[in-house]
Amino acid sequence: MTTPSDDQVPQDSDFGRDAYDVIVLGAGPVGQTVAARARSAGLSAALVERELVGGECSYWGCVPSKALLRPVLAVADARRVDGAREAVGEQINVAAVFGRRDRYVTGWNDGGQAATMADIGVDLIRGHARLDGPRRVVISTVDDRHRIISANQAVAVCTGSTAALPDVPGIDEAMPWTNRRATDTSLLPPRLAVVGAGGVGVEMATAWQGLGSQVTLLARTPGLLPKMEPFVGEFVTGGLRDSGVDVRTNVAVTQLKRQQRGGPVSITLDSGEQLCVDEILFATGRIPNTTDIGLETVGLTPGSWLDVDETCLVAGVDGAWLYALGDANHRALLTHQGKYQARIAGSAIEARASGAVLDTAPWGTHVATADTYAVPQAFFSDPEAGSVGMTAEVAGQRGYRVKAVDVNIGESVPGSNLFADGYVGQARLVVDLDREVLLGASFAGPGVAELLHSATIAVAAEVPIRRLWHAVPCFPTISEVWLRLLEAYRDQVEAEGRL
Ligand SMILES: Cc1cc2nc3c(=O)[nH]c(=O)nc-3n(C[C@H](O)[C@H](O)[C@H](O)COP(=O)(O)OP(=O)(O)OC[C@H]3O[C@@H](n4cnc5c(N)ncnc54)[C@H](O)[C@@H]3O)c2cc1C
Repeated sequence: MTTPSDDQVPQDSDFGRDAYDVIVLGAGPVGQTVAARARSAGLSAALVERELVGGECSYWGCVPSKALLRPVLAVADARRVDGAREAVGEQINVAAVFGRRDRYVTGWNDGGQAATMADIGVDLIRGHARLDGPRRVVISTVDDRHRIISANQAVAVCTGSTAALPDVPGIDEAMPWTNRRATDTSLLPPRLAVVGAGGVGVEMATAWQGLGSQVTLLARTPGLLPKMEPFVGEFVTGGLRDSGVDVRTNVAVTQLKRQQRGGPVSITLDSGEQLCVDEILFATGRIPNTTDIGLETVGLTPGSWLDVDETCLVAGVDGAWLYALGDANHRALLTHQGKYQARIAGSAIEARASGAVLDTAPWGTHVATADTYAVPQAFFSDPEAGSVGMTAEVAGQRGYRVKAVDVNIGESVPGSNLFADGYVGQARLVVDLDREVLLGASFAGPGVAELLHSATIAVAAEVPIRRLWHAVPCFPTISEVWLRLLEAYRDQVEAEGRL
């Protein structure tokens, strides 16, 4: 990378201003949120984007994946209801599903989101941004010019992440899919291998099997969704197998071969077994988009995740001006959590700009406490999977004295069977025995993603168990699982008290 010196920089007046209060690198959901937050605080803001305003989430992540999944789950939901089942045909209309996806990603055109930023007075600059020493950003613009701008208050790195590919022999010639091709293609591969046990892997296996591919899911771990309670992965594994996915755990890909473009891919597993598929998708983690953003000019290591404090200030940089938000800081690779950080950091930038004292007490206005305590995540597999806060194992490792209580949703919640005949699902609460508040909650079952926010409120607000009894769920909703969970907790604690 060559950084232009000041005298090489064009002095064109059409470049506009050369200093802003806040400069944001990357216009994904997180970058847009912090830029908007700065504007609402009366600060000027520049937002630099090298690709599409909206980022991975809008065009190759959350939005297209859910646009593909919803028809698959809607059909599965209908098939679980007597009378509705008969109204559903054998084969999903794949072209219509791709059309739906195209509509939700607005044909990969970011005009609407760019206009929203313009409307609130954010200056959008199209180009690749790099830091150029403290508070300075150099932009290689799309028309091949260079522009340097400086930040009076803050620079926020919101450059997101990219799919990580493992170092497997033959991977380049295999031309594997990443999340990008898995969400933007309109071709249905007859046979698809999905590598990865996490959320992207199970969602894409669900979507593509539902659309008509024969999916083989290859996971290195003993179970799927290994960061959730083990029962969640077991339910999801069962659901995938019921839908026809060949789920294989404890396996690793050791070699790939694709003889010719468009030809099949042969996969060798560590067991020596060979598979032949038409496409292979790697959903094996993410790497940060920080290799070429000038981190070396401020003493940081290019290509690293950016370590931040609770206000999202980057560690190891003096002067309280460099923030990293969203995927780039690796705290929680989720859109809603990155936007939460953007709101928190935006408030911290505003407070620092005005010389106000920061509210840094736990759950204060200027600290991203929820990132370490109450992160909700939902996966739209069939059954759906959702969790917030800590698993029982993690809570134990962190030194809490915990009790985990489980409830079979289908057997104990009438509303679940009205929702889906023969409902299959489970819920778990993890209770801190000393304070009698929830540390975590997990759910597996149709429709549970919408249950998650009730649990998130209980965990984040640390609502005492005795108070939760007064939060009465409607009959006949699946939310009545809360009553069963509270009863299970009370019964177990009373039984142990009698011993
Ligand atoms: C298949 C899939 C499904 C997902 N589903 C969900 C979901 O349902 N819910 C959820 O919460 N999360 C989901 N995620 C995760 C979510 O997409 C990310 O957490 C989110 O996009 C992070 O937002 P961000 O703004 O930090 O980064 P991004 O969305 O990656 O945006 C970063 C932006 O920065 C730009 N950029 C990078 N470098 C530069 C540079 N040097 N100069 C200028 N611009 C630059 C990029 O072009 C990009 O537009 C999913 C991810 C995947 C892969």
